[in-house]
Amino acid sequence: MDKLHPEEGYWREKIEQLQLIRFKNTLERAKKSPFYAKKLKHIAAEDIKSLQDIQNIPFTTKDDLREHYPYGFLTVSRDKLVRLHASSGTTGAPTAVLYTENDLNTWADLMARCLYMVGVRRQDVFQNMTGYGLFTGGLGLHYGAERLGCLTIPAGAGNSKRQIKLLQDFEVTVVHIIPSYALHLATVFEQLGLEPKSFNLRIFLIGAEPHTEETRRRIEQIYGVKAFNSYGLSEMNGPGVAFECPYQNGMHVWEDAYLAEILDPHTLTPVADGKVGELVFTTLAREAMPLIRYRTKDLTRFLTGKCACGRAHKRIDRITGRTDDMIILKGVNIYPMQVEKILMSMQEVGQNYLIELYKEGHLDQMRVKVEIKEEFFEEDMRKLKALQTKIAKRLREEILITPRVELVEHNSLPKTEGKAVRVIDLR
Ligand code: ADP
Ligand code: ZN
Repeated sequence: MDKLHPEEGYWREKIEQLQLIRFKNTLERAKKSPFYAKKLKHIAAEDIKSLQDIQNIPFTTKDDLREHYPYGFLTVSRDKLVRLHASSGTTGAPTAVLYTENDLNTWADLMARCLYMVGVRRQDVFQNMTGYGLFTGGLGLHYGAERLGCLTIPAGAGNSKRQIKLLQDFEVTVVHIIPSYALHLATVFEQLGLEPKSFNLRIFLIGAEPHTEETRRRIEQIYGVKAFNSYGLSEMNGPGVAFECPYQNGMHVWEDAYLAEILDPHTLTPVADGKVGELVFTTLAREAMPLIRYRTKDLTRFLTGKCACGRAHKRIDRITGRTDDMIILKGVNIYPMQVEKILMSMQEVGQNYLIELYKEGHLDQMRVKVEIKEEFFEEDMRKLKALQTKIAKRLREEILITPRVELVEHNSLPKTEGKAVRVIDLR
């Protein structure tokens, strides 16, 4: 691996110097858009003397993007635009993101950087198994892999049998896939009587939705690959905002392109490194649609200490969920990822689960439907009952309440081609 300058402090300083320059440029550029012209009327780039001063600048929210849809954030004339994407709309009406040619170039470079970092080279054959179209995971990774020089297969989402045929026929080595789909695809391999480990696969890039370390390990084990966590959001171009390095201990944020803050979601002041808060991003290299202090609602923390790879870019921990994913049940705060962590660590549990919230009388209740691997789904009721109790007990230790556990057959829960729906609220 390339060795960087021995003194990490030197590189931190360089990154922060660059961030300050780019932040000021971004501020001036942003004011060309109708939205920021008004919002930042009283703020000038000269007022920003250090990165600390950013804390005096107002936030931008998803609602702002929705209210000023479609062109309210634009800083260039429309003839400069070459691409449109939109968020998946996981939490409401989608928002649109617009790109100039320079924006697409910057994005492809960042993506290529992520791929190169985890060991992808031009000799690799890359299959992109996420949705193309408005979703950024398709074209985003696509252009990055092409820029690196990989043979790039735009397989898109779904159609599992064809995916497997492509993997086999073209001796694919690198795959981009949503983790819940990677688990589902494993069941299709099984149905076809094929062993994923006998394929040529060596690297998976997994992201676009929250998942746990247990899920990653499961994917690595099933496919015999190294799986790297990939984080991004359409408002920040898409994937390629933060990515794991070969050490798999948190995701390096590409701080030359994105300025990251982690704030207490209530007081909106910075939390100490190591403490969980809401991620807030400012674009530092965006032309068409710069965004300033954009509140992602994603929860994570900055990891402390140096990364063994030598990069000075700060690392964020895996995303535990969005502030709006939190379930409050009987006064206890629960994140779906706590449930996933337990389930994916149990060998009897298959590749899918679903959390349902419902009312029993006046009481809120939680039901967890859990797919059980074929070999454990037997006729013997006593054994099933014991397994049910075991799962409920483990879940209780993690989430402090005892959910009702329902065991269901392997492959019987609804699956999506895109981001998994983990919680259904029937209340
Ligand atoms: P939407 O917000 O509608 O889902 P996007 O497609 O832009 O739209 O998705 C971005 C969001 O997806 C992020 O804000 C985050 O919540 C989630 N996400 C993306 N990558 C990851 C990841 N590696 N781990 C956890 N969550 C992720
Ligand atoms: Zn690293």
